[in-house]
Amino acid sequence: MPIQVLDQNTINQIAAGEVVERPASVVKELMENAIDAGATAITAEIREGGIGFIRITDNGCGIKREELPLAFLRHSTSKIRSAEDLLTVSSLGFRGEALSSIAAVSQVELITKTGDSLTGCRYQIEGGQEKSLEEVGAPDGTTFISRNLFFNTPARRKFLKTAATEGAHVADLVEKIALSHPEISIRLIVNNQNKLHTSGNHNLKDIIYTIYGREITAELLPVSVETEMFQVSGFIGKPSIARGNRNFENYFINGRYIKSGLIAKAIEDGYKSYMMQHKYPFTMLHFTVEPEYIDVNVHPSKMELRFKDGEFLYKTVCQMIQGALSGRELIPQVEITG
Ligand code: ADP
Ligand code: MG
Repeated sequence: MPIQVLDQNTINQIAAGEVVERPASVVKELMENAIDAGATAITAEIREGGIGFIRITDNGCGIKREELPLAFLRHSTSKIRSAEDLLTVSSLGFRGEALSSIAAVSQVELITKTGDSLTGCRYQIEGGQEKSLEEVGAPDGTTFISRNLFFNTPARRKFLKTAATEGAHVADLVEKIALSHPEISIRLIVNNQNKLHTSGNHNLKDIIYTIYGREITAELLPVSVETEMFQVSGFIGKPSIARGNRNFENYFINGRYIKSGLIAKAIEDGYKSYMMQHKYPFTMLHFTVEPEYIDVNVHPSKMELRFKDGEFLYKTVCQMIQGALSGRELIPQVEITG
């Protein structure tokens, strides 16, 4: 075959592979957009595990009619203007890839209205092809529907698990988002049933209670530390509620749920003398870090971060945890061998 530049649609479909792996990735991108839009209430609704239907409704700033088609172009974003802005970016999004990716691999319907316009508009785009743009009455904010994920890429659709499994991934993700933003009221509806509803009253413990129940909530110790580089606060579980896996180790940086080897090690080393081997603690830690100390642009999923002066962060977190655990006069659990 002769060398050719790929057409936009093909490029978008390939790029979508990096952003959209499964329904939960669509829900993640859309909810992050809603958060970036300043929403105080977000509802996520799915049917068929999100494969058939995803609807995210927010009361954020909305998208202007004239900017709508632009929002669906690849690398179009209102959040940064140049690579320099990456150093100080504080929004969850900034790559401008989500809407174009989702529209490339599903059937999208979007209704949006900004506060300063009298009417809203409805935009439809399927497999990257614009279908319609019309005026409609709508409340302020955005409703984004994605139907039939991977309808035009059967090979990728085959890799999806059952609706139940995909739905469980969505539920996990929405819980993480609710935990990372206690100031936003978050609701999850699965097959017309209410699965989660947080009040948005800023109280992290209330959300932990809603998601994990009374027994876990009763075994929590509050922690907080403030340094020049960062501030951290939240709750850590007593060793009595330790687990056999890391699913309970949660931490958020600037409102973003992430995974970090450095933070995991700081936490686990902090617990070391209180914990049996192969047991992992419950933690719910919110970090606020000055953007110049982190690089979030490591991977498209933005799940990985790089830290400047990670050593200091490690020590501070480790000591904070040791301090909280020792302060409560817990009996250290020693490993019994032989
Ligand atoms: P990014 O979030 O990286 O900027 P996206 O493709 O996710 O890129 O979104 C493109 C743009 O569309 C955003 O920069 C934002 O201006 C606008 N947008 C997307 N979703 C919403 C929303 N729910 N409310 C308001 N604006 C939105
Ligand atoms: Mg985005």
